[in-house]
Amino acid sequence: MRTTVLIIGGGVTGAGLARDLALRGVACVLVDKQDVNAGASGGNHGLLHSGARYVGSDPLAARECREEGEILRRIAPHCVEDTGGLFVAVSGDDEAYVADFPDLCAKSGIAASRLDAKTARDMEPALSDRLIAAYAVADASVDPFKLSLDNIGQAMAHGARFLPWTQVVGFRLNAGRIRAATLRDAANGREYELEVSLVINAAGAWAGRVAALAGPHVDLVFSKGTLLVTQSRITDRVINRLRPATDADILVPGGTVSILGTTSVRIPDPDDCRPTIAEVDQIIDEGAAMVPELNATRYIRAYSGVRPLFGKTSAGSGDRAVSRGFALLDHARDGVENFVTITGGKLTTYRLMAEKAADLVCAKLGVDAPCLTATTVMPPYAGGRWTEPGLAPKKWLKATDPTDAILCECEMVSKSVVDDIVRTMPAASPGTTLLSIGLRSRIGKGPCQGGFCSLRVAAHLYDTEVVRGDQGLCEIRRFLDERWRGVHPILFDFPLMQAEFQEAVHCGLFGLELVPGDETWKEDA
Ligand SMILES: Cc1cc2nc3c(=O)[nH]c(=O)nc-3n(C[C@H](O)[C@H](O)[C@H](O)COP(=O)(O)OP(=O)(O)OC[C@H]3O[C@@H](n4cnc5c(N)ncnc54)[C@H](O)[C@@H]3O)c2cc1C
Repeated sequence: MRTTVLIIGGGVTGAGLARDLALRGVACVLVDKQDVNAGASGGNHGLLHSGARYVGSDPLAARECREEGEILRRIAPHCVEDTGGLFVAVSGDDEAYVADFPDLCAKSGIAASRLDAKTARDMEPALSDRLIAAYAVADASVDPFKLSLDNIGQAMAHGARFLPWTQVVGFRLNAGRIRAATLRDAANGREYELEVSLVINAAGAWAGRVAALAGPHVDLVFSKGTLLVTQSRITDRVINRLRPATDADILVPGGTVSILGTTSVRIPDPDDCRPTIAEVDQIIDEGAAMVPELNATRYIRAYSGVRPLFGKTSAGSGDRAVSRGFALLDHARDGVENFVTITGGKLTTYRLMAEKAADLVCAKLGVDAPCLTATTVMPPYAGGRWTEPGLAPKKWLKATDPTDAILCECEMVSKSVVDDIVRTMPAASPGTTLLSIGLRSRIGKGPCQGGFCSLRVAAHLYDTEVVRGDQGLCEIRRFLDERWRGVHPILFDFPLMQAEFQEAVHCGLFGLELVPGDETWKEDA
């Protein structure tokens, strides 16, 4: 096999690169060791930053966020919920920072209008009555899964290939150039070579490991951030705490839920990233200072992502002091001419990161084609199907074929949606069909967290002969294992009772504890 450019990492940066290069007419293959958004792109807040969060710490990042937010609203409006945002301070917060905030925003060209406390609380009744300042800004929420899938969809429409469940495990170099990459197919463990003209390492927190396979050293620190999902939507707008960035100071609405976070905890290994009970307690305590209801609301899930922060922190300085900007590294300086790494940055600025990396790649390849990603509209990708969250069943049934049974009642996902996804998605690794359907729809994202819909979808996959033998049970086990990582840190009171009931159903009735879970499913297992 041969391609011009191999892109490693199917997060939003890799997806954006595939789209950028494909629109410029450059042949490329995008690979991920798992599926789309397996790293930070699937573990973030989903905040399309206005830039106001960075006006004090990083004016360049603030400006980039503002510009990229405007572009994304134009090219992919279906990925963005234009909620608007508020920055609020409560009594006890740093009043000097509050006083500086409007000038800092003005310097970065970010519109921030001052509101009195009553107006702010009329707009968002859940806000604390201890408010001392409020500003309205142009924050929004963005769906990272739609965004990556739409980038990949447009890239594929222009000739790019996407190979999920394909890990880069080595390179063949000769005379200071990568000649081929060794790819491992997770479905069967088979390794094969892909000959390349150039390689882009967009492996996020794993970029150091990928770079090391070819020789270069990339200095990264890993900062875990944890987020909590509430059962219902608490506010209409994004709510930011008006203070220098710290833990649990952002609440982002998305569909029927709100997402509260985050933390910044140094971890040694990006693969060892899961939310802890201590983080959950801390996030709720801090968040409740600006929105008291967060103390009493029900949470349905916690999840974590890893920020790859470029460069070392000095002893005693926190990870929040390390730049959240991105690093574009040309490994020609390390003696590997056709190898580039792009890491760090933000979801909001992924397109710009991809543009800068693609410009470098094109210069190296001698391709003289302009970047088209800021002006080309990105259509929704048919391989992802998103039901509208919160659509009442009655309304849904009126508008939909009543014989099209609903498999997920929390999020109103029907049989035909699952069938469409199965038809269009790339071949899944055995045991991962349900996970892949979950990534491409809202299956498992509602209050039951897959407890009931996983069984129904698996039954449908048996009926349609997508799975057979023990495979459906293994699919359910893996899907629930993944959901469980996010459910166990938030279990107390009624959710704990419900979890015990679900365990009784899953283990007592289906014996799921006896089938393989995280291990790769084998047909003869
Ligand atoms: C907690 C948290 C909250 C955040 N909130 C926001 C926010 O609200 N707004 C915002 O703008 N930004 C936010 N960010 C930042 C944003 O999520 C990241 O900047 C962005 O997702 C990075 O995308 P990426 O594609 O570069 O990396 P990733 O999404 O991490 O992708 C890297 C991919 O590489 C793959 N990979 C690794 N090794 C290999 C290999 N050997 N072979 C093949 N594939 C491999 C991985 O499986 C992974 O899918 C947040 C980040 C975190 C952690």
